[in-house]
Order: sequence, then C-alpha cells, then structure tokens
Amino acid sequence: MRVVKTECSCGEPILIEINAKQTCRIDGKRPFYPDQGLPDGCSPNEYNVNGICVFRCRKCGKVIDDECPEAALGTRINIDTIIEWSAI
Ligand SMILES: [Zn+2]
Repeated sequence: MRVVKTECSCGEPILIEINAKQTCRIDGKRPFYPDQGLPDGCSPNEYNVNGICVFRCRKCGKVIDDECPEAALGTRINIDTIIEWSAI
C-alpha cells in the first residue's frame, strides 16, 4: 500500500492511500486515519478496514478534500479512454 502522510488543517493526522483497490473515490485516493479501526458492530468477516474512506474530518468536521492539498480530488477518468465493448 502506497500512502502519503498528511494532516487536516485542524492538525488531525491523515494518511492517503494512492491507487487504492477499495475506495469511494474515482481518483483512486483513499484518505484514512493512522489509528483507524472498524466502526463498532462491524464484523471483520464482512468489512475490510483497508476499505474505509474518510470524507469529513472526525475532529473539525470539514471535508478532507478541501482541507489537505494531498487529498484534493485528482485526475478524473478521461472520457477518451472509455470504449465501446460488447461481450462475445
Ligand atoms: Zn480537521
């Protein structure tokens, strides 16, 4: 896992995984907390801690994308790379 170490503007430490396999973001970044665990009640058999994606900072409540430059929304999918495909 390749990560960038950064923090929110309020000082909350944040790590950002690059080219994440599981993320809610189309640019492949996955912001998460260094001490992140599964939320209470979530079974490790059903949920993967490496799939948790932070949207708002847990300390100040601001949107992470806006508060740390490393988390800013990156390259979107280029429309030219979308091709027609039909299954054989
Ligand atoms: Zn914050």
